[in-house]
Amino acid sequence: MSDSNRRDFLAGAALFAAATTAMLANRTTEAGDPSFMNNVPDPALAGKELPTFKFALEKSEGKVIGKSFGKEATVEQLPISKGIAGVSMKLEPGAMRELHWHATAAEWAFVVEGRVRTTVIDPDGNAETNDFGPGDVWLFPRGHGHMLECLRHEPAHFILIFDNGYFSEFGTFSISDWIGHTPKPLLAKNFGIPESAFDGFPKDEVYFARGAVPPEKQSTPLQGRKLPAQTHKFELLEQPPHKVFKGGREWRVDSRRFPISKTITGVILDLEPGGLRELHWHPNADEWQYVIEGNVSVTMFGSHGRYRTETMEKGDVGYIPQGYGHSIENIGNKQCRILIGFNSGVYEAIDLSQWFAGNPVDVLATNFSKPASLFERFPKQDVFISPQGEPQ
Ligand code: MN
Ligand code: MN
Repeated sequence: MSDSNRRDFLAGAALFAAATTAMLANRTTEAGDPSFMNNVPDPALAGKELPTFKFALEKSEGKVIGKSFGKEATVEQLPISKGIAGVSMKLEPGAMRELHWHATAAEWAFVVEGRVRTTVIDPDGNAETNDFGPGDVWLFPRGHGHMLECLRHEPAHFILIFDNGYFSEFGTFSISDWIGHTPKPLLAKNFGIPESAFDGFPKDEVYFARGAVPPEKQSTPLQGRKLPAQTHKFELLEQPPHKVFKGGREWRVDSRRFPISKTITGVILDLEPGGLRELHWHPNADEWQYVIEGNVSVTMFGSHGRYRTETMEKGDVGYIPQGYGHSIENIGNKQCRILIGFNSGVYEAIDLSQWFAGNPVDVLATNFSKPASLFERFPKQDVFISPQGEPQ
């Protein structure tokens, strides 16, 4: 979007917001339910057809410095994804994603390959350093300062999830950018050291700093060790899967198992060829998907007869708005693995088979104008993941 388009868009959005606020004020008085205020219709989802919910993240160029890169999927690349943004990041040996914070989003990560070290500070001045390998997860609450560095001599690849689809443009604050734009006398006064100490500092954002491969043993912070009460690290794939079925398995981590992750839930979903994560929806969260391995078909139901299917391959991103019905099916000939993130710290889902099973057969008979005996054949419990083909 150009700047003038953006201004027009923002002006239009402001008018729309004012109009809906006035309308909502009346409705709220009638309904007496303040939660209705959250339900302003999203113009991106108001059309006769559903918009695309797929973006080929790994095929995009992103930001490249040396052999390190950051590729992002925000509302700019995938307009439907207002609630969650994601980044695929690769760090070459000796590279560091410099000290920064995100003013508008928490950061959740899953390590795909290689090893990463992070240090994060919280508002109480506690700092934690952790080392991560494949299958591990980190969570940095919104606004907490952190850095990421590649450990050892192999590159590291990880997927970042942010609980705000707009986070990128306005949300990342880097230490070199700040120091580089602050007058030296002020810096000298701030730190109580001579102005000359800041000679030769970078003038602009460094983003990926490059230096020596970090020491294998973690170094101690300037202030010494002062650890936070809650850890930022969770070894997701070290746990037994949350759910195991013939057609696949799922690992899940939300704030009940990883208390610092108050706003994001993460899932790793493996499906065997033909395996189906059944039709379901999430009452409390948007869903962001990244295909780590394999080929999948994702369906989405958007009410009013609107239905859309996207075929996704390794490196593609998908997005399902809160409350929208969907399914994921492995259409390849080998096992697939999907990383899924939700912008809620508490996982909630309603599966279609469970909904059927939760109703009396006479209700189902009336609903579909079919004999009650038909519904006796339906599952008596949640299917969750269905294997290939007809059940035995
Ligand atoms: Mn970050
Ligand atoms: Mn889902």
